[in-house]
Amino acid sequence: MLEHAGDVAGVVRGRPRSVVIACPDGCGDTLVINLDPRAGKAWDLELRGGVTLYPSVWREDGCRSHFIVWRSRILWCDRFTQDNKEPEYESALEEAVTAALSYHQFRSGYDIATEIGEISWDVIRVLRILASDGRAEQGMADQRDHYRRGSKR
Ligand SMILES: [Zn+2]
Repeated sequence: MLEHAGDVAGVVRGRPRSVVIACPDGCGDTLVINLDPRAGKAWDLELRGGVTLYPSVWREDGCRSHFIVWRSRILWCDRFTQDNKEPEYESALEEAVTAALSYHQFRSGYDIATEIGEISWDVIRVLRILASDGRAEQGMADQRDHYRRGSKR
């Protein structure tokens, strides 16, 4: 099933166990992404609107590719390509994400996405946009994927 770089196939035995990806940079390696928390570090698989994996895939050996799989698209984390266009989203998502932000406590984009039933990368992008103009405040250091309500309305 993995003919071309970036092709993805699921391994299901009773329930989804793993996802295999033909490394999207074309190096020819096959990446195995574990989905089962009982088998070690596990990714979250979302199938609405295509295949989404959270968090990013970062090879620590071989070609060292670092990318995210978002609505069946590959987005490179460390290099720019013309194909690196982020999927569209509805502006209503901004309102839902804003409403879910706490005024006090920093929360991760993943937790917020889970709470409001949206796709993780969709929510994380909205949070980056909200943080860029002060509607959200981004955490520091190891809390950089955490956000709370900003001072600007
Ligand atoms: Zn590769």
